[in-house]
Amino acid sequence: MVDLGTQYQEIKSEIETAIQEVLDSSVYIGGSVVQRFQQSLEAYLGVKHVIPCANGTDALQIAMMALGLKSGDEVITPSFTYIATTEVIALLGLTPVFVDVDPKTFCIDPSKIEAAITSKTKAIVPVHLYGQACDMDAIMKIAKQHNLFVIEDNAQGIGSDYYSETGEVKKLGTIGTIGCTSFFPSKNLGCYGDGGAIFTNDGELAIQLKMAANHGQKVKYQHDVVGCNSRLDAIQAAILNVKLPKLDEYVAKRIDVADFYDRVLGVSDKIVVPYRDGKSKHVFHQYTVQLNGVNRDALQTYLATKDIPSMIYYPVPAHKQGMFKSFNLGELDLPVTESLTKNVISFPIHTEMTEDQQSYICSEILNFVNAN
Ligand SMILES: *Cc1c(COP(=O)(O)O)cnc(C)c1O
Repeated sequence: MVDLGTQYQEIKSEIETAIQEVLDSSVYIGGSVVQRFQQSLEAYLGVKHVIPCANGTDALQIAMMALGLKSGDEVITPSFTYIATTEVIALLGLTPVFVDVDPKTFCIDPSKIEAAITSKTKAIVPVHLYGQACDMDAIMKIAKQHNLFVIEDNAQGIGSDYYSETGEVKKLGTIGTIGCTSFFPSKNLGCYGDGGAIFTNDGELAIQLKMAANHGQKVKYQHDVVGCNSRLDAIQAAILNVKLPKLDEYVAKRIDVADFYDRVLGVSDKIVVPYRDGKSKHVFHQYTVQLNGVNRDALQTYLATKDIPSMIYYPVPAHKQGMFKSFNLGELDLPVTESLTKNVISFPIHTEMTEDQQSYICSEILNFVNAN
């Protein structure tokens, strides 16, 4: 699905120099390399505070801890997402309230959020799925009206621009109260291990976020609140210092690949290519289509015989996972989520893809759907 090896070959000498500098400095945790990355990411995003942490899951957890969310508080989120989003809600004893997604964008449907709000609702966690922005204008309006926090799960959307109704252009992940991202190797901005970051423009909140990520301490050995230990290490930060300046180029390459897929696969009425709503730059963390009357399992099996990987993100929605059994969620009515889990399929997309590879993949996909 991705080709991290070829990408590494392109930047090998820069990466090796950066890692060697960390080794020579013997500062492996914290220090100037991590600080430099934090400041570069703040500048790139146009956000006041970036708090680096150990991974994207921690970023979400720390965000909820720093906001002081407590057991019994309700958090509105989609069920059609990677499990991390909803898992941390459960881990902190909060109650996930699942809202259906929009059939075109695959992101949380703002028109269904208000009906899910109760006196216990504290936050909305929109997920910019596959690199497509949620309708943040609508979400922020609802949040303001009901006094709710918004935590953007931007693990798949880093590098995207959001064109708000007011005409402002903001980096995705910097619109809500807090934004969270992941630097997992296959993400749009990936390191060579685990990494994550949290963003906010709120200075008070930044202090709380830093404390939550660092054993609840502001001053060494004074632990004011219960926190956790979540750090981006210096070697990963060094790698990210090399890759961040290339993020826009990487995103442009992904968009080129998506454009090609759209052109070739879009001719088939059995394939619904990704929708682009024009309210943001879709950064294509995944290239995900909906199948229309095609046997998905059979397509995957066929593609595998042609050495073409494909994936289902995500085959089981969060609300149907065993981890939520004890939550007595009852019968939830999430028809779009249910339908997408059955019909979506993702094809390879990465920054080093060649036209030959893409032509081959597309022709095999079309071979199958036209014959079946
Ligand atoms: C990858 C991902 C996460 C978690 O990030 P990790 O770094 O793997 O912990 C959270 N949410 C979404 C939507 C993701 O894609």
